[in-house]
Amino acid sequence: MTVLEAIQRSSDFLAKKGVDSSRLQSELLLAHVLKTQRLKLYLDFERKLADSETDALRDLVKRRGNREPLQHILGSTSFCGLETKVNYHVLVPRPETELLAEEGWNFLNTLEVSEPRFLDFGTGSGCIAIALAHFAPKSRGWALDKSSDALAVAKENATINEVHHRIDFVQSDGFSGLNASCPFHLIISNPPYIPAEEIATLQEEVRKYDPHAALDGSPDGLEFYRFLAAEAPAFLEQGGKLIVEFGDGQETSLSEIFRTSGWTVESIKNDYTERPRMLAASKRN
Ligand code: GLN
Repeated sequence: MTVLEAIQRSSDFLAKKGVDSSRLQSELLLAHVLKTQRLKLYLDFERKLADSETDALRDLVKRRGNREPLQHILGSTSFCGLETKVNYHVLVPRPETELLAEEGWNFLNTLEVSEPRFLDFGTGSGCIAIALAHFAPKSRGWALDKSSDALAVAKENATINEVHHRIDFVQSDGFSGLNASCPFHLIISNPPYIPAEEIATLQEEVRKYDPHAALDGSPDGLEFYRFLAAEAPAFLEQGGKLIVEFGDGQETSLSEIFRTSGWTVESIKNDYTERPRMLAASKRN
């Protein structure tokens, strides 16, 4: 079988299984098997695959056909251009969360302090904390998660991206593992925000492979925002900000939660699809 035939067959198979962008996905899987870049495949369409390569591809395509996410099969993804390993202990980073991280590092870079401190609440793969440390080079970060398995992934990613010496990893359910005498200039979070009942309606890749704990935001999806609105002020510096990602249609309830808990809602911004996705708030004095 040639490279081109392998792409076509895999692509047909994945399309039948209902996988989106089946051709692109097949190319990425084959590039992974051949340890090359996707676009290089185009220079080599007539190359014959060795039996071992065909077997390896068949195995990966079968996994993808069972709706295992591409990122899990490849073992990593890119977040803000930074290599990020993922497995079933962490939520696969989403493109819209890159915008959240960008809001975060832009804010840190405006601060006139020698070492702006940030907290990534519910760090998962560590992608937000690592992007902040990378793009706000004076900053120091704390990456918190209640899952030790997630923190192991986050630590590995911080090491890969050479920011491990600037991030402390804290295992904690809520803020109990933190020291309130060292407040943060920025608290950033992409907490679980899917209303519990909606989880069953999500696409299989998400529902079966992302950790349930990273998705489930309680019956109305808002539990973590109520928690942050109540508890985060004690951990925020004067003039500090909280920036959070939220789910579809949650902006009004979320603004209400923060306003009634003594916060000023500074902005609500959209994601790439023009849907409201991020809220920034500061403490009212
Ligand atoms: N954005 C993710 C999704 O739509 C959910 C992540 C979260 O709950 N924070 O699947």
